[in-house]
Amino acid sequence: MADRIKLLPDHVANQIAAGEVVQRPASVVKELLENAIDAEASHIKLLIKDAGKTLVQVIDDGDGMSTTDARLSFERHATSKIKTAEDLFQLHTKGFRGEALASIAAVSHVELKTKTTSDEVGTLIRIEGSEVVEQEVTVTPKGTSVAVKNLFFNIPARRNFLKSNTVETRHIIDEFHRVSLAHPGVAFSMFNNGAEVFQLPISNLRQRIVAIFGPKTNEKLVPVKEDTPVVKMEGFVLKPEFAKKSRGDQFFFVNNRFIKNGYLHHAVLAAFEGLLKEGSQPGYFLFLEVDTKSIDINIHPTKTEVKFDDEHTLYAMLRSAVKHSLGQFSVTPVLDFER
Ligand code: ADP
Ligand code: MG
Repeated sequence: MADRIKLLPDHVANQIAAGEVVQRPASVVKELLENAIDAEASHIKLLIKDAGKTLVQVIDDGDGMSTTDARLSFERHATSKIKTAEDLFQLHTKGFRGEALASIAAVSHVELKTKTTSDEVGTLIRIEGSEVVEQEVTVTPKGTSVAVKNLFFNIPARRNFLKSNTVETRHIIDEFHRVSLAHPGVAFSMFNNGAEVFQLPISNLRQRIVAIFGPKTNEKLVPVKEDTPVVKMEGFVLKPEFAKKSRGDQFFFVNNRFIKNGYLHHAVLAAFEGLLKEGSQPGYFLFLEVDTKSIDINIHPTKTEVKFDDEHTLYAMLRSAVKHSLGQFSVTPVLDFER
């Protein structure tokens, strides 16, 4: 029989990868916000239209890209963030897979504008379904703007699968919360169909939480702090009386990356034992800092799952730190630890 195997063309490979990386407009929001953070931006603006279905745009004042990098950034496995496999275990950036822009560009119309400090002029690139349709020199401030239009224009099944604007906007706001909570030292704003939704100035963690969730949140916060050779822990839990029936205000960050982890959630639940009404869920904003070598983030393209070397020790420490804070809070005035 004749040979039958062929390498897939790049645009097909990109579209397949996009299936995992880009599930909905909120996935685009996450990837673009994280790229802006990695570019060390100090002001990041998010614009969405029709729940991100017609437009997701992120404008940052970060490092920007040279013309060559701007073009390369849309290639698959093209990244400035890691060079070797060892680097996977000393990650200090949100990104490292080099596939977000390639995936996004495979399933939308993208317009990139970018400029570095050292360049006089910037670069504009337009890509439609992985194909570069325009590239020119442009006048633009230092930093990067990525506008993603008509998501899934070439995958009608995916487009039809999207939920209502209310639901998709909710997902986008969740991602916006996660990234902006992890970076209180960066100013963020968000506009939905032209209307301002968030204006978050540079602040500390407590101020950032209050700016997002409202002034009443301030008196609900109980600071948590723990420092051991294995883990540094910092953040807040909400007082037990503000626990909700539904899950929602639960945020774990590991090395400043939002993660989901049922086991660690259970550790917090255990710390609240006896303080909560049956079935209610405590709120928390907890930041764990661990050795980059002791975790693996490369489990899934969305990077919200993390494997820890020693989950049991983390569990025990988390439970006791939260328990300790709750106990301290009930007998003495609240001490605050500024982040
Ligand atoms: P990754 O973030 O995993 O490296 P991406 O596809 O998200 O992969 O981005 C590819 C590359 O493009 C990045 O490594 C970075 O060099 C560059 N890049 C993307 N977004 C920005 C931005 N907002 N500012 C500066 N450089 C960017
Ligand atoms: Mg990225």
